[in-house]
Amino acid sequence: MKELIAGYRRFRASGWPERRRRFEALAERGQSPETLILTCVDSRVDPSIIFDTEPGEVLEIRNVANLVPPYAPDSAYHGTSAALEFGVRVLEIPHIVVLGHESCGGVNALLNGAPRDAKEFVAPWMSMAAPARDRAMRCAPENRQQCCEFEVIRLSLTNLLTFPWIAERVAAGTLRLHGAWFEIRTGVLMTLEPGGSFVRADDGSGNTATAGAQPF
Ligand SMILES: [Zn+2]
Repeated sequence: MKELIAGYRRFRASGWPERRRRFEALAERGQSPETLILTCVDSRVDPSIIFDTEPGEVLEIRNVANLVPPYAPDSAYHGTSAALEFGVRVLEIPHIVVLGHESCGGVNALLNGAPRDAKEFVAPWMSMAAPARDRAMRCAPENRQQCCEFEVIRLSLTNLLTFPWIAERVAAGTLRLHGAWFEIRTGVLMTLEPGGSFVRADDGSGNTATAGAQPF
């Protein structure tokens, strides 16, 4: 907590004065983010750093392995679905990005079994991604982890369309769904293209070679 308070002091000294107007306007007018990013809980993946965004621009949903559960309006506690409902139906956010990442522990648990102390919730949570694991098993063993990370993103995008109010908006053209994957060791972002493969996003440097990442 000491480190957090030290960070808070830095925020009050510089971040707050710089963004004071923005925060005040957001408090007064409310939020209207352009993008909903659904990503993993992993501490190494920070959408506001990757996409250089400001408060109010992105609604974030984070869960283990950036998974979207299928639409299931029952009495269970659906944290991800509740956040989707708020973002899509209340805020009418026009873009959803499912952002996966390199070395995802949730995907590793899916492929190799959950750690002994993560069987109560992680294992059943990851079991919804069994179809992604099955598809990833066709990849060579050395590529399987990354291949499965891509498949999980594709599965989440498919599951988004099981929500009737998402499918409706996508069909009407008022909501667009996107997939992306972040490589922690290189800072490289890959995006899922309409053809179904992941390609390196333009980082403005003119360098389009893949850096470690395999475009499956
Ligand atoms: Zn992860």
